Order: sequence, then structure tokens, then C-alpha cells
Amino acid sequence: MSRIVFLNGSFLPIEEAKVPFMDRGFMFGDGVYEGVGVLEGRLVDNDAHLERLERSLREVRIPNPYTRAEWTHLEEELVRRNGVTEGFVYFQVTRGVAERDFMFPENAVPTVAMFTQVKAILDAPAARTGIAVVTVPDLRWKRRDIKSLNLLAQVLAKQAAREAGAQEAWMVEDGFVTEGGSSSGFIITREGRVVVRPLSNAILPGITRKALLALSKDAGIELEERLFTVDEAYDAAEAFLTSASMFVVPIVSIDGRAIGNGKPGPITKKLRDIYIRMATAPRMAAE
Ligand code: PMP
Repeated sequence: MSRIVFLNGSFLPIEEAKVPFMDRGFMFGDGVYEGVGVLEGRLVDNDAHLERLERSLREVRIPNPYTRAEWTHLEEELVRRNGVTEGFVYFQVTRGVAERDFMFPENAVPTVAMFTQVKAILDAPAARTGIAVVTVPDLRWKRRDIKSLNLLAQVLAKQAAREAGAQEAWMVEDGFVTEGGSSSGFIITREGRVVVRPLSNAILPGITRKALLALSKDAGIELEERLFTVDEAYDAAEAFLTSASMFVVPIVSIDGRAIGNGKPGPITKKLRDIYIRMATAPRMAAE
């Protein structure tokens, strides 16, 4: 069975889903997107993702084509039709199709494209062994709080990571870590304090980050929201990343230097377990 995707009102085999040449997503990267984790066939923390999508659309002034209930229905339907039990739902909205011109077109209708990916989250090797990270300059624009389709800086950052034998890039600005190419970055100091950069226009407000902040508080683990430098990260006892498709993943080296003893650390493991418990909890408890 071929993969079923959603495009502008229809569920289609991926081979039949075609986007017009003049789509502004293709021409300008003029659009925004979201990505939601799927565990046990269920969307994880979906309301928070839809809230961020609504905000991204508002900030770039693209009309939101669906209500929250409609989005949820489309996501669930796509997960069901593709038989996804563990993985990811991706969806993007562009400003639509119009002759190439920078200003907003008069009557363009937003393009909506959605697909699923099957992916191991709970048993991902990265979660067991930890991953390597390299630091790169943060080359992005100044509205990183918007989940924009313009991902060229992240493409270059993550390719640089791969070429250095690492699995993620941590982007750095003025000596401070902003975030990962597609994840939020955390360190745990030798005193056991979990540190994450505060929200601002400099980073994406990670949904996994947000959930973990609340969950860790409940578990009595204190999180500190402040900037941290690359040197502080090198010297950390533990480091980890969070994202909707990976949850909490340990980082065992940064720029080739071992973090702590070079193995996934105990606090990171505990935070991963806490997050998984939330994601697998009965629906009423998770929302
Ligand atoms: N920062 C960036 C730049 C990202 O692309 C992502 C992945 N969406 C994240 C952080 C993590 O966000 P979330 O937990 O919502 O997936």
C-alpha cells in the first residue's frame, strides 16, 4: 500500500499528490509547519502543537484554514489510514499559489499538505546510546519563534553535523547556545541543575520543552531558564535534547569532547521516563 498523504482537502496516494509550480512555499518558503509525535497510534500533546501552529500562522498573516477540531480530525485520520502506531505527523500551510511576486497575493488560497512518518521513538538507538553534537554558528533570521518553512540554515547546520560524525548541531550566537537544528538543547550542571535557554525570538518555543518544564517541576526536579555558553556545555555533567519526534535524547559528546563520563546520564534518563509516562498515559490524564 502506498503512503497516503493529505493535500488541499483530499487524502491521496503520495504519487498523486501534486503541488502547483507557483506555490509560494516552493518559491519563497512562504509558509509554516508543525510536527507532532505519534505513540501507540495517538497524537502526543497535540493541542499545544496546534496552538503553536495558530500562532505561527498569525505572525506571518496566513489565514488558518481549519479549526483545532478539524486539524485534529485530519491528523488522526492520516495516522489511521497509514496505520502509524509510532512516528510523526507533519503538516504545513503555505500562502498558496500565485504568479511570483513578493507581496501577498490578493486571492490565494493556502496550500495544506500533511504526511506521516513511521519512526521508532521508544526504542530509538539514539535514546539508548546517546548522540554526538557539534556546534555551528546560528545563521538564521531573527524570528526563530515562528516555525517557518525557511530551514536552509538548519539544513546546512545538520549536514555539517553529519559530516563531523554527529547527529545534531547546536547553533551558537554571541557565545551562547540557542538550540539544536531541530530540537531544544539542555544541559545539567555538575550541581545537578537542569538549564535551558529562556523563550524569546531567538528560539522556537519547543512543545516538548514546555511539557518537560511542567513535568519536571511536578517530579521535584528544578529547571533553570537562562542562557548557557558552549564552554558551560562542555563542562556539563549531562546534556540532552528534546523534540516531538525524539522526546528526550541524551547527548554524550559536544565537539568531540565527552560530556560527563561520555554515557547517558541518570537525570536525563529520569526526565525521558517522565515524558514517556505522560505520552503513554490515558488520554484524560495526558491532556
Ligand atoms: N527547535 C527547533 C529549531 C526545531 O525545529 C524543533 C523541532 N520542531 C524544536 C526546537 C523542538 O520543538 P518540539 O519539541 O515542539 O518538536
